[in-house]
Amino acid sequence: VTTAFLDRIDAVDSQVEAFLHVDREDALKQAGEVDNKRSAGEALGPLAGVPIAVKDVLCDETKACTCASRMLENFRPPYSSHVVNRLKAADAVLIGRTNMDEFAMGSSTENSGFQKTKNPWSLDSTPGGSSGGSAAAVAASMAPLALGTDTGGSIRQPAGFCGIVGLKPTYGRVSRYGLVAFASSLDQVGPMSHDVSGSARLLQAIAGHDPLDSTSLPEPVPDYLSTIDQPIDGLRIGICREHYGEGLSPEVDRAVQAAVDTYIEQGAEVVDVELPHSKYSVATYYIIAPSEASSNLARYDGIHYGYRAEKFDDMIDLYARSRGESFGAEVKRRIMLGTYALSAGYSDQYYNKALKVRRLIRRDFDDAFSKVDVILSPVTPSPAFKIGELADDPLAMYLSDIYTISANLAGIPGISIPAGQSESGLPIGLQLLGPTFGEETLFRAARMFEQ
Ligand code: GLN
Repeated sequence: VTTAFLDRIDAVDSQVEAFLHVDREDALKQAGEVDNKRSAGEALGPLAGVPIAVKDVLCDETKACTCASRMLENFRPPYSSHVVNRLKAADAVLIGRTNMDEFAMGSSTENSGFQKTKNPWSLDSTPGGSSGGSAAAVAASMAPLALGTDTGGSIRQPAGFCGIVGLKPTYGRVSRYGLVAFASSLDQVGPMSHDVSGSARLLQAIAGHDPLDSTSLPEPVPDYLSTIDQPIDGLRIGICREHYGEGLSPEVDRAVQAAVDTYIEQGAEVVDVELPHSKYSVATYYIIAPSEASSNLARYDGIHYGYRAEKFDDMIDLYARSRGESFGAEVKRRIMLGTYALSAGYSDQYYNKALKVRRLIRRDFDDAFSKVDVILSPVTPSPAFKIGELADDPLAMYLSDIYTISANLAGIPGISIPAGQSESGLPIGLQLLGPTFGEETLFRAARMFEQ
C-alpha cells in the first residue's frame, strides 16, 4: 500500500506540489516494521500500514519541521508532537510532510515560503489553506488520510475547495503538544479524508487527554465508528438566515439548499437560529489571531531557533535582520497587526474588546444549540479561487473565512463535507457545526448526507 501511494506521489506531485518532503526509504521502512509485526503475530494498531500525510507544522523528531517558513527551513524539533506519537503508536505510516501557508497564516497555501500547491481539480486554482498541501494530497490520492490544523478554517476550507472531508475538533479535544503555535486559543489539529468514516477513524487515533497540553480536556473519547452509521432520528438542523445574504455565490447557495432538502427527505427538521454576533467574527478573529501570533512568533529571534542573518551590527539588528530576511509578507503583516492591537494604549480598544465580542459569539452558539443538534452552512462563499486572484488583497482573503472562523472563536467542532460541484467542475463544501464535544453527532449527521 505504501509503495502504491509513493508511486502516485512520484507520478503527480510534480504538478500538484502538495508535499514539502517525502522520504521514500523512511516510509518503506515504517511499512516494513508493520509487516514484521504482523508476521511475528504481534497485535497491530488501528491504523496499521495506513499512509498518512502530515502538515509541516506538527513536530516529528525524525524530520525537519519548517512550517513552510524560511525561518525554520533547517529546524529539526527535539521532540515529537502528541499526535505524531499517537499515529506511530497506531502503526500508521507517516508518508510525507505537506505544504501550508507560512505558520498556517492564510487561506490559499500561496503564503508558503517554498512552493504553491495546486488544486488537483483545476491546477490554476488554489487548494485553499492553510492546510492546502494536506487537502491536495488526499484529493489527488497521494495519501488516504492527512492531518491538518485549523485556527480559523484551515482544515474545513481546503477540504471544501478540494472535495474531501475535514473536521476541526472541539478546542481541547486533541492535544496541541508539539504543534507549532499560531494562535494558541484557536489552534486545533484534525483529520482530513475522502469520506466521513476516514476522518472518524483518524480522530479516534489522535483524540483524548494529554497531560502535556494544559488546554487538553479530560473528556472520554466516544467510539465514533460504532455509531457513525446510525442516522439521527428527527435531526434538528439550525439555519442562520444571515448566512445566505450578500456575498454568497449562487452556485454555493444552490448546493447548500439542495443539501437541506436531502436532510428533510430523511426526516430532519429545519429550525431558524440566530447568531446575532456572527457578523463581527471576521473582525474579532483578525484581532485575536494576529495578537496571539505576534506573541507566539516573538520566539523566532535568530538566536534560539532557525534562521540567523549573516551580517548584523548589534543584537537588535540581529533580531531585525533575521526576522526581516526570513518571514514572508503575510507573517510580517500579522505580527505588526497583533503588536499594534496589544500595545499599551490600544489593547483596551482592540484586543480586550475583541475578547468580549468573542464571549458574545460563544453565547450565541450556546443559545442556538439549546434548540438544534447541528448548524448547517456553506464552508466558503464561493468555490476555489484562482492562484493569484486574491493574493494582493488580504482583506478579500480574510473575508472569505466568514463561515469558518466563528467555530474557532467559540471552540466548537465543525466538519466540511463534499456537496456537489460548480458549473466549472470545482467542488463545493457543506459545513456542519456542532456543540462542544459534538463530534459524534457531526460524524453521524455527515454520514447521513454522504450515504
Ligand atoms: N485563513 C485564516 C487565517 O489566515 C485561518 C488560518 C488557519 O486556520 N490556520 O488566519
